Amino acid sequence: MGRPPTPNQGGFIVRAAVWVELGKPNIEIQEVTPLPLRDHEVVVRVEASNVSVSDYFPLTNDPETVGQPVPQILGHCGTGVVIEIGPKVERLAVGDKVVVTSTPECGECHFCINNKPEFCAEMAWMGPNTYKDANGVEMAGNAYVGAFAEHMIVPDIQATKVVTDLPFDQLAMVALPIATGVGAALRIAPITPGADVVVLGAGSVGISYIQAAKMVGAGKIVAVDPLPHRRELALKFGATHVVDPTAGDPVAAVQEITGNKGGMLAGAGGDFVFEAAADARAIEQAWDMCRSGGHIVLCSVTDQMMTAKVTFTALPFAVQGKTIHACQGGGISQRRDIPWLVGMIERGQLDVAGMIDAHYPLADISQAMDDMMARSVLAPILMPQS
Ligand SMILES: [Zn+2]
Repeated sequence: MGRPPTPNQGGFIVRAAVWVELGKPNIEIQEVTPLPLRDHEVVVRVEASNVSVSDYFPLTNDPETVGQPVPQILGHCGTGVVIEIGPKVERLAVGDKVVVTSTPECGECHFCINNKPEFCAEMAWMGPNTYKDANGVEMAGNAYVGAFAEHMIVPDIQATKVVTDLPFDQLAMVALPIATGVGAALRIAPITPGADVVVLGAGSVGISYIQAAKMVGAGKIVAVDPLPHRRELALKFGATHVVDPTAGDPVAAVQEITGNKGGMLAGAGGDFVFEAAADARAIEQAWDMCRSGGHIVLCSVTDQMMTAKVTFTALPFAVQGKTIHACQGGGISQRRDIPWLVGMIERGQLDVAGMIDAHYPLADISQAMDDMMARSVLAPILMPQS
């Protein structure tokens, strides 16, 4: 750790996980120095960061389509303590504990004032450059965050103060996967008591959705995942049924479990279907697993999704009354919902500690990425101060 930076940043050195080569998952731990703080920027000492599929997805994409620069500091959400504030920062102070998200909430744009802050107009794949390396090459943090580093320079509209004694590894789960999965279940398309629920993909986001479904009294909760250990986790966290999609037709299996309510349209399937399978084929399956009048929430952000196409028959759009929702940012308002989510974890309504199964020091970021992509861990947490 270096000493706390000043706007002039003299001599302050930060270790950061830097993506260095387009089209390849090559990550180096580099020593970088901060650029002077801009208006509304704060410096956060990063205590923990969730490592997710959406951190990995730019790395191996075709450089022509990925649209992101190298070098860049990886990590698009995390948690820690504010150690410096830049000009015009009013909502945060040095010493505040914060949860940092990739989605800002400016409170003033078209989307924020229309109660859709997850689409805030200030959102960007990349922010301005915030650091430079020993050769003077400047770089930005992914999503104006860069949480895979000892410190991150972020805009104040992406950092939410929390007052809690929860350990940082659990706080790192709030922005992702908890906000995504719980937001999908309770904010985007709120699950109604007794409704049948289907979850494609029992990763950390799917497990978060399952916990919320159980909390609100869903009917059957069906988890679909090809990995036996993920199906076991789904049952542990609240699924009532599991389906192995490699053992036969998963759509037929889900329709049989959830039952057919009859009618000439789509009587069979779940009332709420959540796709978190990181596989474009699952989007088509999610549609077929949903009964008439139901809701489908699509969540996966992966490299495959950058180019994959999905195909649907046209007529059912006109007559079956299914609604497809995006899951951008879990549909939450940071300022309203992050303290709410933290509170649910504190009260034991959400089991986050039980989801975390691996911690990694900063130097092991590539191992954390590999384990996450191999699905050998559910919720890898990077601890940048170690
Ligand atoms: Zn906004």
